Amino acid sequence: MADCYFSPVATLFPCYWRLLGLPLSKAKGLIVDRIPFSLVETMIWIGAACLLILVAAAALGRWKNIRSSGAPFFLLLAGPILLLLMALGQGAFPLSLAPSAWRLPLAQAFTGPPLPYQEFRRSLERRENRLMQTFSPAYYESLGEEEILFGCDRALDTVLADLGLAPGRRVTKMKPMGPLTTLLGLSYGGPAFHDPFFGEMAMVRPQVHPAPRYWRLIGICHETAHAKGFTREMDAEILTQLALSGSADPRYRMLGDIMFLRKSGERVHYPEYLRREIRSSWDSLQAVEARQPAVRFLKKAAVKLGFQNSNGKYGSREGSEHWDPAHPFYATIAGLMATTHAKRYADGP
Ligand SMILES: [Zn+2]
Repeated sequence: MADCYFSPVATLFPCYWRLLGLPLSKAKGLIVDRIPFSLVETMIWIGAACLLILVAAAALGRWKNIRSSGAPFFLLLAGPILLLLMALGQGAFPLSLAPSAWRLPLAQAFTGPPLPYQEFRRSLERRENRLMQTFSPAYYESLGEEEILFGCDRALDTVLADLGLAPGRRVTKMKPMGPLTTLLGLSYGGPAFHDPFFGEMAMVRPQVHPAPRYWRLIGICHETAHAKGFTREMDAEILTQLALSGSADPRYRMLGDIMFLRKSGERVHYPEYLRREIRSSWDSLQAVEARQPAVRFLKKAAVKLGFQNSNGKYGSREGSEHWDPAHPFYATIAGLMATTHAKRYADGP
């Protein structure tokens, strides 16, 4: 869809993605998905160690010695350069490797008509009723992380094709986050990541960050959307919602409803089983966080410096927030669901 992208970059994107972006993403995916441990975690350790050695050499007056050592010096220099490239790769700006920098946000490419509050409330009630009527703990528990990774990978391909968007790579691996990325992720407020530089996906271990089952399952779908070439959080959320709600599997649609309701910032009813799960995950999280002084300290620092992740980026509403009829998540989803070619997203089959 030619009008989906910024101009003049608009005209370059299909060419860039076909010739470079997608082949590169596929090649990286083939490698990183086969490595059992987190490459990002390993590379941060190596990069930081190299940087530390260089700084120590400079501080101890050994810079000239190390500078004249030839190959070892350049190997050490590669560490900080790698860290810099990884950091640059995170941002969606044209010089970064993130393809979203070249794409118009989905909320702008597929702007829906204004969504009045009453209509938004009605869609919440529809989802709420459906969830209350169809939820079953056994059914909910039967969907595992491996299965949803496979299922969402396919479901997202269908969504992209339906929207006329370029396809992304096949995604086959979600890794457990290592200690350093866990510390950084929890401090920043990002317990899962897709790294645009290596194309790797990882999620925090459940014992370090207790969360309801649905949170992990939806998170896997969200990171898969990133891995398919959509770096912006809002884009990943919109695609995740469409993939879940449009699935032929009622368990995915159930997750789609939970996601839709949880992001709404409104008071809604949940099945008792889910309410208990949310409460007990919260209690466990509090207990675990009490034993994580480093996370608490860095979290406070991130909040003070304004580095903390925000709900707004994800299109999640706060309880007190005024309704915006042009809400980038809800109005876009409503608009897409109302169009005939995306009709099947409306209420599922
Ligand atoms: Zn994300």
